[in-house]
Amino acid sequence: MSRRLLAGPPKPPASRRRGQPWLPPGERWLGVSPAQPEAPAALAFPGAYPAAMASLGYLSVLRELLAQGLPTHRLPLAGSAPPESLEEGRPLRSYRLVALSAAWELEAVEAVAALRRAGLEPDPARRGPDDPLVVAGGALTLVNPRPLLAFADAVVFGEGLTAATALARGVLRGAGRRELLDSLGALPNTALAGQPDDAVLAERHAAAVSRYTVAPGPLASPVVTEASAFGESFLVEACRGCPRGCRFCVLRRDRCGPFAPFAAETVVEAVPAGAPRAGLVGAGISDHPALERLLERLVDRGIAVSTSSLRVASLTEAHLRLLVRGGARQLTVGVDGLSERLRDALGKPLPVRRVEALAEAARAAGLEALKLYVMVGVPDETAEDVAEFVELARRAARHVRLAVSAAPLVPKPWTPLAEVPFAPATALRERLAGLRRGLGSFARLDLGSPRVAAREHALAHASLAEARRLTGVVR
Ligand code: SF4
Repeated sequence: MSRRLLAGPPKPPASRRRGQPWLPPGERWLGVSPAQPEAPAALAFPGAYPAAMASLGYLSVLRELLAQGLPTHRLPLAGSAPPESLEEGRPLRSYRLVALSAAWELEAVEAVAALRRAGLEPDPARRGPDDPLVVAGGALTLVNPRPLLAFADAVVFGEGLTAATALARGVLRGAGRRELLDSLGALPNTALAGQPDDAVLAERHAAAVSRYTVAPGPLASPVVTEASAFGESFLVEACRGCPRGCRFCVLRRDRCGPFAPFAAETVVEAVPAGAPRAGLVGAGISDHPALERLLERLVDRGIAVSTSSLRVASLTEAHLRLLVRGGARQLTVGVDGLSERLRDALGKPLPVRRVEALAEAARAAGLEALKLYVMVGVPDETAEDVAEFVELARRAARHVRLAVSAAPLVPKPWTPLAEVPFAPATALRERLAGLRRGLGSFARLDLGSPRVAAREHALAHASLAEARRLTGVVR
């Protein structure tokens, strides 16, 4: 799961007036548009605008609400001012429905702070009948829905389009707050605030997550914009879930349902004529059985292609050549453990020589840069593992420009590492300092914060009572 970039929302012109919906420059909407006056609904995003415009989960819910005919605005929650919609500059409290998509644990904290700035009581039990209905969902619910249940009136686990359809139809027929909640509560993948005891919540959640990959797809974005974190890409889902079993990963095989690759033809046809670039989304994309054909068909149409992070062991020279023909200049892959020993223990074996061979093949195919994701704080890790990774990176850097993104391992619930304690801050700082010393002279570094990762860990494992405290609902 990627972190949201830090940047403020685009600024509308000073001359904008109520009733004159505005769209940030450079956005191209396909078939639907949020530029409608007096919308009753807003879809909120924590974090920054470029990240929201690169979040297929967020955009596909927006597309569904708009396609159902429900005028819906976008509502950035970041910043220190009371949140206002992008399209009309309206305050959060002026909407009847405020839906929210969160991918990362700390976004729940950001959402609670934004509700306070909006003058809305963040505890759902203390909100009144005239307050907006707050409904939350997103990828975070695949980990732990409780940080969202701490402040939302209802939370949707996993697949969000069915709930979006029900909400849109309800608001359009004038349903009140109670009726909307009842229609959500009737769905199998939701929980309402104050309703479930923890055992019932856990049962509903597990059942919904295990069906995540079988919901219809592929999801596709309703908008293309240069300002997206992925550039001017039309985002389309190439697959859902993953057939691998990495021990740290919440998307490991079968936990979210069987791996669901979408037919290459279906994915290609979803990309509209005139799209300059396609962004293929999917955790297990490296294992898509028709990845080569998929890339080839798009590149042959003259469309540039980028993908989610790729798995080193599955990449072939043909994939690399096609990615380069599709305009790629940099390849991003997950190495995950610092050493072969740790990668074996994490269930993602990868020999050093394979990474070096990939760097060499990437250069030969015409790629200029390689970005490696790696984790620190893996159980039994020592300074020798850091040294092994520095050597791996040195070998890779002989062939391509190198970037390394290193972050603390956050053992997540529902994984074989769930009970592993979060590594002590001193050990994490030592490892990160070792990477900085070893790599600083030849690789671009992006080092995660142990403090932020510790908060992420606490929220990932929080009970509802803990989540209410950690998100700031109760102080
Ligand atoms: S290959 Fe990637 S998505 Fe699949 S289980 Fe491993 S880490 Fe998760």
